[in-house]
Amino acid sequence: MKIAMLNPPHRFGQDTTRWITVPPQGYGGIQWVVATLIDGLLAAGHEILLVGAPGSTPQPGLTVSDATTYDTSRDALSAFGPDVVHDHTNGQLLPAEPGWPAVRTHHLNGVPEHTANGIYLSHAQRRAAGSAEAPVIRLPVNPDRYTYREEKEDFLLFLGRVSVHKGARDAAAFAQAAGLPLKLAGPAWEPDYLHGILTDYPGTAEYVGEVGGSRRTELLAAARALLVLSQPFGGPFGGEWTEPGATVVAEAAVSGTPVIASNNGCLAEIAPHVGTVLPVERTPTPEEAAKILAGLPVPEHLRVTAIEHWGHDVIASKYLEVYRRAAAGGIWA
Ligand code: UDP
Repeated sequence: MKIAMLNPPHRFGQDTTRWITVPPQGYGGIQWVVATLIDGLLAAGHEILLVGAPGSTPQPGLTVSDATTYDTSRDALSAFGPDVVHDHTNGQLLPAEPGWPAVRTHHLNGVPEHTANGIYLSHAQRRAAGSAEAPVIRLPVNPDRYTYREEKEDFLLFLGRVSVHKGARDAAAFAQAAGLPLKLAGPAWEPDYLHGILTDYPGTAEYVGEVGGSRRTELLAAARALLVLSQPFGGPFGGEWTEPGATVVAEAAVSGTPVIASNNGCLAEIAPHVGTVLPVERTPTPEEAAKILAGLPVPEHLRVTAIEHWGHDVIASKYLEVYRRAAAGGIWA
């Protein structure tokens, strides 16, 4: 199939000459999803046009467009002539009635801009959007892009935005109860929040900044466990937060690293396969934390489970099914 993949265009930090690429240079949830899905679709022999991420590296079967606006995106799509358009931009680059068969993966919380032919990342996210029949397809991971390691080091990892709804402070509280250091990796767009954590958990929490490349995959492979203690409040769009898909869960598992998650949103659905789930807003005692760490699954099981559930080939074939449904005129809400 000819598939046009629309990525949300974002500038690379303060640099007004560069864009966040696919895959991203550092932090980039949606960009990783798009990159991994492209890996799976290319492997299955499909032809892709990537829009919204200039500077990404083309490869056989993958053309990278320079378009970053509504109008230039439309021109790029017309020139390509897709069988299906896959929108990841929440309508930023695609109108409600695009003129080509289209599907839309929703990456955020709440009701999306355009609801037709939506795809959700979890049942919790779909419920919060008010849809009952749209497909749920999990976020993919490409094992070839990660390092698998069985020997772990004595630290816990937080990888994501250092923000209230992502539970960075909760991760520090857990690490202190467990008596292990916590490496906090990710952009800290709320400096006061980060400062508060480092002040309140000295000797436990260490901030290592935003990470990319081998630094990121090494941290994922070396950690004793990844902490994803997402909270249902403090979200970016007015407070409430239902964790939609959580790419980091599959990334850790494929690296052989177990996950300790809260039960917020998608995490209650996916984390039990590769770790454990705790209630939100409750820090375990040292005894409980020790018990949790001792009961986590072993690396080999984690990798096999992650590939089976979320491997890029498996997820690409689920997407191909919905692409075909849309290309045949299928419409769902
Ligand atoms: N990430 C990264 N570097 C960082 C922090 C995060 O590359 O310093 C990546 C992380 O590996 C994951 C993505 O950014 O692929 C975050 O996606 P997730 O779905 O976990 O969170 P969200 O998209 O809600 O921020």
